[in-house]
Amino acid sequence: MIEARRISKVYPDGTQALKDVSFKVNKGEICSVIGPSGCGKSTLLLIFSGLLDAEGEILINGKRVNKPQRDVALILQDYGLFPWKTVRDNIAVGMKIQNFPADEIEKTTKTLIKKIGLEGFEKSYPKQLSGGMRQRVAFARALALKPSIMLMDEPFSSLDALSRERLQDFLIQIWQETSSTIVLVTHSIEEAVLLGKKIVVLTERPGTVKRIIENRKAGRSEYRYEEEFFEKCREVRETVERVIE
Ligand code: ADP
Repeated sequence: MIEARRISKVYPDGTQALKDVSFKVNKGEICSVIGPSGCGKSTLLLIFSGLLDAEGEILINGKRVNKPQRDVALILQDYGLFPWKTVRDNIAVGMKIQNFPADEIEKTTKTLIKKIGLEGFEKSYPKQLSGGMRQRVAFARALALKPSIMLMDEPFSSLDALSRERLQDFLIQIWQETSSTIVLVTHSIEEAVLLGKKIVVLTERPGTVKRIIENRKAGRSEYRYEEEFFEKCREVRETVERVIE
């Protein structure tokens, strides 16, 4: 469970990014956060991750936190891979930092490379991979540490439509297998609706919670083709448009 209680953030230059943001993501739930560009979505994720301080409280599993937590993974927009490290070493990096035993690192990286379908690419470097493959490596690196919470900042934004859908399905699969709690920042209405059981719509800067939309049917690939999906997209679109007006 992860909860924001009356989070406000003013950057040192006086920019107020967030104002009084409160919402709660239940254990094992995917929550989408959507809102206009510059409304403080990335700021909110950094605060959740413990990397940025703010006014208010962040609770993880009921406990107040103010520094990075071991079981919280942050997955960024540009994948955050090290260009000079191979696929295998990029996946292993977090485990190495945390001094996991070598045989466990070996076993986990092997399993994850198989899971992300990159067998044969262990020794490749990020620049030799497609955007979708790089994103899968970034997921694998986060998963290696078995996080109970994953924070994702527009993880699919630089992918073409087809790769994006494949990766969304991959994320659904990971989520079903690991039952992690996920907070996903996106500017895509369809993505927010496909994945988020809860959709938090933020206003323009300073971001405040405009509305929280429940979306029970989310988290299934088939949802894309269902009538309710289109209706929900319309509901979210109307809410987002009202925010921008
Ligand atoms: P979003 O992810 O919704 O696009 P951000 O969280 O990146 O929004 O930014 C929210 C606002 O805060 C923007 O106006 C941005 O310019 C500003 N901002 C972000 N980081 C900083 C910073 N380090 N110092 C000052 N202002 C910042």
